[in-house]
Amino acid sequence: YGRCIEAIIEHLEAAIAYASEPMANALRALIAFYRSGEDADREAYDIAWVQDRESPVDTINGFVEVYLDARSIKGAWEALVFYVNREKTHQIQTIAANAQWFEDHMPWDPRYRRSGAQGVTANAIDIVIETGESGPITPVGINLPNDQAIRELHGSKSVSLSNVIEAYEKSIIPELRSEFSWTDDETARAVKWSAFAGELATNMHEVIGHGSGRVAERLNGNPQAALKEQFSSIEESRADLVALYFVADPKLVELGLVAEEDHADVVLAEYEAYTRNALVQLRRVREGTQIEEDHMRNRQMIVHWLMANTGAVELRRRDGKTYYVMADARAFREGVGRLLADVQRIKGEGDYGAAKALFETYGVTFDPAVRDEVVARVERLKLPSYTGFVMPRLDAVRDEAGAIVDVEISYPLDLASQMLEYSAATRHLRP
Ligand SMILES: [Zn+2]
Repeated sequence: YGRCIEAIIEHLEAAIAYASEPMANALRALIAFYRSGEDADREAYDIAWVQDRESPVDTINGFVEVYLDARSIKGAWEALVFYVNREKTHQIQTIAANAQWFEDHMPWDPRYRRSGAQGVTANAIDIVIETGESGPITPVGINLPNDQAIRELHGSKSVSLSNVIEAYEKSIIPELRSEFSWTDDETARAVKWSAFAGELATNMHEVIGHGSGRVAERLNGNPQAALKEQFSSIEESRADLVALYFVADPKLVELGLVAEEDHADVVLAEYEAYTRNALVQLRRVREGTQIEEDHMRNRQMIVHWLMANTGAVELRRRDGKTYYVMADARAFREGVGRLLADVQRIKGEGDYGAAKALFETYGVTFDPAVRDEVVARVERLKLPSYTGFVMPRLDAVRDEAGAIVDVEISYPLDLASQMLEYSAATRHLRP
């Protein structure tokens, strides 16, 4: 990585001159960490990054997420540059401003409750560029840093990726919803509400999901060490369950985030979409009979746990097709609350055995015959398994002296040429 990291540092140094003071501090700390690789420097960077709450432009840059490592230790490199979308930021900031209320109403043992919820900084953002593990296939929400001790002491930053969510929504093929919906009502609710409900759930997942709760003292703020390869799946489950639990809470109406007359439909749309996804996501695992990716494991675990332990989700068949049907929203929420209490306990105590049992029972293996059926259905409809994004292209406009006077934005709208351009731009850094 040496030559690549040298080049990254060069760009970070060039950015310092244009950064606000808190951001410049974070960039300097990041450079120091890239140079040393020492954990103490990584901590200093995490703290400096979290303390930069106001900058209108921000970046995530480094070996961050461990979802792809079977041991959940090695971070995959990613880099994002983004700016705050002022108009869309209201919803996520309202959730963050009320974080303590949500914390106080979590359906888990009060010993895991965080008091004086440490500032969760939350913004809706527009992505300028994402590369490495975060692009061109992108997350829709991010909450960092991953270091639990820093989260508890210094807080965290959450972002919801507005322009990504909007582009996803506009590019969805209608059949992806109707093919796997049990009724026409379900399809209609998905068309009308799933974008809205999905964004709301993502915001809650990041801010009051990842941002909430505390762990037992003896874990020293490091439940990862106790939960090992199960940690990421447990943490993603916890965040999803918080969102599923509170999406049905009347508090959202009181906060003005959902209109009272729409609330029941929004909840149904979210629960139905979540349930369908556990089936539809199997299209991404075309070989073998095991799910490896942590988010996919967590989503399968939750739906299959609900199927086994509540009357909320049913497996039905019609005309040779399999459906996952959300049959009872009240039972769904009640089950989610029970499972969330246990998942928080597992994280809070670092209960590795319980985490492993939970995922091995409900989250890892699947019936290959059902997967083959799902693959055949999506192939017939030509539905994509993944969506890759084309970034806006920025070209500097310079005056005669070479100073940047403007930036021209264009949209190449071609994934292959984008990736070839990126590859060419970094060719000299590879052996
Ligand atoms: Zn997450």
